[in-house]
Amino acid sequence: MSVERRGPLSEGKAKILYSTDRNDFIVQHFKDDATGFNGLKKGQILGKGPINNSISAWVFQYLEKHGIPTHFVEKTAEREMLIKRVKIIPVEVVVRNLAAGSICKRLGIEKKHRFEPPFVEFFLKSDELGDPLISERHIFYFKWATPEQLKEMESKALRVNKLLTQVFDQVGLTLVDFKLEFGTDNDGNILLADEFTGDGCRLWDKETGEPLDKDRFRHDLGRVEESYQEVYQRLKRHFEGN
Ligand code: UDP
Repeated sequence: MSVERRGPLSEGKAKILYSTDRNDFIVQHFKDDATGFNGLKKGQILGKGPINNSISAWVFQYLEKHGIPTHFVEKTAEREMLIKRVKIIPVEVVVRNLAAGSICKRLGIEKKHRFEPPFVEFFLKSDELGDPLISERHIFYFKWATPEQLKEMESKALRVNKLLTQVFDQVGLTLVDFKLEFGTDNDGNILLADEFTGDGCRLWDKETGEPLDKDRFRHDLGRVEESYQEVYQRLKRHFEGN
């Protein structure tokens, strides 16, 4: 599709959004910048931008093929993809297969506890407030999403979990947990938006249990770039066969 990139619309912690000559499409640019603990820790992971762009493109194309509508249109450059313009629903949906991160701290759950069935939590998308945990009551009272939208987001997130748990398993990785964002298009359809990358999920090597995601950056575990590369290479072989 021939769409021309125009000026920046907004810049986030890891991405920049640009307008285009078509009102219904925007360009999503992936930076190497990385943050942890809601922006308290800042740095760069060299080469992360192109890796995250490729991984998000593969994952979103795969999900589309399996019945999950997404905002993804096509990859347009090493660090850029064309996406459909959506209105982001300010509710982050987290799906957990194994306990890690905030739920362990918050509720004293033992790390690696297996959630059967997978557990879903909602967080308010707000950098200023540090993305607090919210309940359905908050979501409906403040009209962040309707009950129908929330139900659809939850069932889509659980379907994404089933599909991607299998994909990651096939490349020797355990999908521990992940965060999704959804948006609505002009017709009110709910599309999976934002990204799916090692910045927004936990991936543990199946053999060694080693984290290969942003936790390496968050907790100064070393081999950060190498771990992003490792996940990229495994998925590249899986999706492109080389
Ligand atoms: N996550 C994210 N963005 C956020 C918060 C969480 O992408 O603002 C992802 C995180 O990478 C993990 C999952 O959501 O894969 C669950 O995160 P958790 O609630 O455990 O918070 P954390 O320990 O990462 O602060």
